[in-house]
Amino acid sequence: MNGTAHAAIGAATGFIVANSFQSSPSTTLFLVGLGGVSGLIPDLDIDGKLRGKITLSHKMIRTVAQLIGILMVFYSFYEGMDTEKYIGGGIGIGMIVISSSIKQKHMLTLTGIGVIAGGFFLEETWLMLLGVYILIASFVSHRSYTHSILGVLYFGLIASKLEVSLAIDGVFYTCLAGYISHLIADSKLLPFNKRGVKLFLPISSKEL
Ligand SMILES: [Zn+2]
Repeated sequence: MNGTAHAAIGAATGFIVANSFQSSPSTTLFLVGLGGVSGLIPDLDIDGKLRGKITLSHKMIRTVAQLIGILMVFYSFYEGMDTEKYIGGGIGIGMIVISSSIKQKHMLTLTGIGVIAGGFFLEETWLMLLGVYILIASFVSHRSYTHSILGVLYFGLIASKLEVSLAIDGVFYTCLAGYISHLIADSKLLPFNKRGVKLFLPISSKEL
């Protein structure tokens, strides 16, 4: 399944969560976007073994890196105190500049390191954890750990910290549902998927 489909399904799950929480229109919009992003996260692993095989991957990774950089700038100015604003904003701008100019395969690894640094300076646990996720995703093969129960649990941890940080109801469930929707869409539950997901890694590498 391609990225657009994953994002659309994730966005739909965000909409359902927003409705069940009777969120305000602006929160609903935020959760729809968050669901869409969460639905794309598991495929951050395309920088692994597939790297170089897909012509689009480099472009997509660059876009994701730039997006994270932009979010980091906004987030730093919105949430950060005094110097944090400028350090976080600087890292964000640095990520945008570096990801725009670097034409090589380690971009996702660099993005992970940048996000960890951003999380460290902003003292946001979820951002540090997300950076570690991106870093790991840049090394593992496609459709492995990010597409497993272990991946769901780890992303759930990020989501729970994010909900506490933002203090918005529905963030945790939106992230989790968006992420899980991706694994379902990639699984053999759908008859047109020839490959499945190795849900039980590292215990079993059977594709489901
Ligand atoms: Zn996938």
